[in-house]
Amino acid sequence: MIRVLPDQLVNQIAAGEVVERPAAVVKELIENSLDAGARRIDVELERGGLGLIRIRDDGGGIEPSQMALAFERHATSKIASLDDLERVGSLGFRGEALPSILSVSRLRLTSCPPGGGHAWTLGGEGGLAERQPVPAAHPPGTSVEVRDLFFNTPARRKFLKAETTEFRHAQTALDRIALSRFDVGFSLRHNQRRVRDLAPADSAPARRARVAAICGEEFVAQAVEVDESRMGMRLHGWVGLPSFARNQADLQFFYVNGRLVRDRLPGFALRRAFADVMHSAHHPAYVLYLELDPAGVDVNVHPQKTEVRFREGARVHDMLFGAVHQLLRGVRPQAAEQHRV
Ligand code: ADP
Ligand code: MG
Repeated sequence: MIRVLPDQLVNQIAAGEVVERPAAVVKELIENSLDAGARRIDVELERGGLGLIRIRDDGGGIEPSQMALAFERHATSKIASLDDLERVGSLGFRGEALPSILSVSRLRLTSCPPGGGHAWTLGGEGGLAERQPVPAAHPPGTSVEVRDLFFNTPARRKFLKAETTEFRHAQTALDRIALSRFDVGFSLRHNQRRVRDLAPADSAPARRARVAAICGEEFVAQAVEVDESRMGMRLHGWVGLPSFARNQADLQFFYVNGRLVRDRLPGFALRRAFADVMHSAHHPAYVLYLELDPAGVDVNVHPQKTEVRFREGARVHDMLFGAVHQLLRGVRPQAAEQHRV
């Protein structure tokens, strides 16, 4: 017999893709806060995010009449047409995160749109308990509280790692975003302990301090700053000197037009740029931002995977390789001192 699946089940199936672990919830909710124009985002976790994930922002909020709609599948305020999709500037646009997260957790959304009025709240366990929000207390902005992730999907819960591992993934998710939005303040607490406290960084020293807080003082001390424009693209950021050799590829942050990208093409180009100055068993470290004409890159590939499609991959490769190769050749060990950023 063919039947139409109930909404909650559909959302749980989607949740399997969109929220495979607490870190994915953290990423989706922070991105929603950024899309809402937040200047400050506070993240609180308990037990690696399995007990609690709470994200509070000071963004534009949600009108009470729209709150239930935010939990409808494919309901979004961010695009309305194919045209919009082609030049989407927001981080989200699929309208999948909130319904998916709600379907596998006990969730509460509380929001206060700035400009008068008070806050409203709405929640449920696996699905909305009611469609009508009730009055609540909250400063302008939005909080989303997610408890007991996967409480109703024990099979998925079983696949999660130890709480410390899940926490590490969640922290990485926040760090990746914090390195792409220096203009926004972030904090992270885990089990009542403050792990990150990043004020908005609007000067070069403040940005450097944020990189040091996330990547370590040692990285910053052994990195050179790059800012190169060529072939119609701009590459800027920090490249660790070959002396800052890593046994793991754990300090590689690469952004394309502000989005973190983990793609083979830039990874390959950068590895090649290091090839003649670094032992092949070691991994380069970098925090790099590539900016190019948005028409030259397609980011609309997959919601979770961070691959992109470059229209002219060979040019991007040559730009990255050329800029970093030249930079590394110019930095001899004794000259490194002057290049420190
Ligand atoms: P998407 O981000 O793809 O639009 P989501 O399910 O993540 O889908 O969110 C649904 C909608 O809820 C968003 O389009 C937005 O209008 C609203 N929303 C979610 N989080 C926030 C927030 N922190 N502040 C303001 N509005 C929000
Ligand atoms: Mg979203």
